[in-house]
Amino acid sequence: MLEQTLVLIKPDGVQRGLTGDIIKRFEGVGLKIVAMRMVWVDKEFAREHYADVGVRRGEKVLANLLSLITMGPVVAMVLEGVDAVEIVRKICGPTEPKAAQPGTIRGDYAHVSFGYSDHVNEAVRNVVHASGTKDEAKTEVSMWFKAEDIHDYPSVHDIHILHYRAEDIRKIKPATNDEK
Ligand code: ADP
Repeated sequence: MLEQTLVLIKPDGVQRGLTGDIIKRFEGVGLKIVAMRMVWVDKEFAREHYADVGVRRGEKVLANLLSLITMGPVVAMVLEGVDAVEIVRKICGPTEPKAAQPGTIRGDYAHVSFGYSDHVNEAVRNVVHASGTKDEAKTEVSMWFKAEDIHDYPSVHDIHILHYRAEDIRKIKPATNDEK
């Protein structure tokens, strides 16, 4: 049930100064950030990340998407939580901003249709990427992060979201000055 999933704030989201708001939404529902970094990827890496898009969406969309994702740095993060893959996709909203409901990231920060993006020969700028399935999440997390850069640490979500027992957490005692 506890899953990890990959989120990218795409270059359009970073350049529009939306990074803080997007992270706040994930933290707000109790998802734990277990890894994060800013990275400017090259086309080769981007092509590997979007390996199936050419087949699913067509080569033209893929070419435009590779230009979009490499036009500036992205903020990459791994989020952990119960059914995290599905929950993160819900928070992001559907791929086409026109169809995304207000309250979702794509519905709040974008609005154009696939038709319009195709007309201007651009990939649709929908601010975020999120892994689509559990298998995809596993592959993408290991592509973007080394195992040692994914952190296991306690947070208040452990008590209030995941129902860890408070008495177990109280057993962890602060170190005294003498012990430091
Ligand atoms: P998602 O990002 O929601 O998982 P896809 O993997 O199908 O969606 O597509 C990858 C990205 O390609 C989308 O997020 C979007 O930026 C772009 N894209 C997909 N389909 C189109 C389209 N018909 N026209 C323009 N851009 C598209």
